[in-house]
Amino acid sequence: MSCKPKTMCKWDKDRISEDFDKFVKLVKKPGYACRKCGRVASTEKRLCKPVALK
Ligand SMILES: [Zn+2]
Repeated sequence: MSCKPKTMCKWDKDRISEDFDKFVKLVKKPGYACRKCGRVASTEKRLCKPVALK
């Protein structure tokens, strides 16, 4: 785990499987979706174009 990308938008499938527990924590209670990448996260800080889910 050399690099620590700020947003999980940058995570590829290798990074996700490597850090899967962390990934689950970030997505299990999604409050935001990324307009650009289609990912969801519990915090907007993890997305590059966050949009609050209602
Ligand atoms: Zn994104």
